[in-house]
Amino acid sequence: MEKTSETTAEYRPFLEYSKEELAALLKSWGLPGYRVGQIRRWVFARKTDRFSEMSDLSKELRTKLAEAFVAPRQDGENGETAEKAATLPILIENGVEKTLAPAEVGGTARTAKTAETGRIAEAGETGETAADGANVAAAPVGFDSVFEGRLVAKSVSDDGSEKLLIEWRDGARVECVLLRDDRGHRSACVSVQVGCAMKCAFCASGLGGFSRNLTKSEILEELLRLNALLPKEERLTHIVVMGTGEPTLNLDALLPALAEATASDGLDLGNRKVTISTVGIPAGIRRLAAENVPYKLAVSLHAPNDRIRDEIMPQNRIHPIAEVLSAADVFFKTTGRRVTFEYILLDGINAGLEHAAELARLLRNKTAIVNVIPYNPAPELPFKTPSTQTTRRFVDALEDAGIQVKIRFRKGDKINAACGQLRWSLRDR
Ligand code: SF4
Repeated sequence: MEKTSETTAEYRPFLEYSKEELAALLKSWGLPGYRVGQIRRWVFARKTDRFSEMSDLSKELRTKLAEAFVAPRQDGENGETAEKAATLPILIENGVEKTLAPAEVGGTARTAKTAETGRIAEAGETGETAADGANVAAAPVGFDSVFEGRLVAKSVSDDGSEKLLIEWRDGARVECVLLRDDRGHRSACVSVQVGCAMKCAFCASGLGGFSRNLTKSEILEELLRLNALLPKEERLTHIVVMGTGEPTLNLDALLPALAEATASDGLDLGNRKVTISTVGIPAGIRRLAAENVPYKLAVSLHAPNDRIRDEIMPQNRIHPIAEVLSAADVFFKTTGRRVTFEYILLDGINAGLEHAAELARLLRNKTAIVNVIPYNPAPELPFKTPSTQTTRRFVDALEDAGIQVKIRFRKGDKINAACGQLRWSLRDR
């Protein structure tokens, strides 16, 4: 396919463009501003990532968009071999593994014919065979798609949770999860970094070390791909930034992505439906307060004292509990929004009655809520989930001391839902 000047000059993924920037680009092509609304409606409301399906745009414009936003792929980029490129995603259903059918790939799926010729498919063009599907990735990454990534695996659990493993153009991989509950909540849990430098002892994300921050477009792509897993009549209701990585170390990409997601012509989520969860970087929390972001803040506390926190969260040796709580106080005073303290219960480590009493003393007089999360076991880590009785006793002790508590049972343990587990288990594939 012949590349346009937009692809060969400075390539910028479609999802990096704000509404205003997209309007300016289309204007430079001699097109009216209302086209921006049409395109965004397809991407955000109608859940399509393919330009060829935007049937209220002229064929000429669809072709121009597909050409302008195809990611350039130099030889050897990704170290991607033809063999790897032709690999279809893995589907893991309740622990049983198979290959995802081409039609289920979504994203950049194309016919072999269109992949070879660079032609974008006619609206409604189908009939993709398995052989066609195997050729899907022969086209450049992002061809006829607003997406940059490649779906490597999808893991589905019978509790309705679905996890995606996405590979970016540089070969880096991240996970994101769709969680469903019986209150009708459809929550996206997204990653913000490739790997994590925080090295929390109970988390599989830190096992491979930190690689890089995700970009705004990559974070948005996670959200759009998760939204597209939902049936037509449903859409995401909540976003939790609790996947891999420390959000406050990537706010320059995260905040613009969340702004798109919450916008009325974006995914149209209310601001209060977004929760940013931090390991407790005081400078990051203070920035969220100073910018008066409209989102909820959750701080991962996970220990009632510095001795235990130093052990399970090495970041605590740099910013001990007192510093973290002081920054959280600033957030509450500035924004008026109550902070949630996350507390993963690890059997034999932080789940005793003495720990509950210490935690209650720490949070006394604070307008806060403690989210108690029984540990979700990961085979590569040595921790254990406490019994229901231990969990109940811990929660009762906090409540008796006047602390507001919620218990969150983590969904999706059958799909490797704890952050980093799917990526880790498929690291050589
Ligand atoms: S729990 Fe969060 S901050 Fe800690 S290592 Fe895992 S991803 Fe990083």
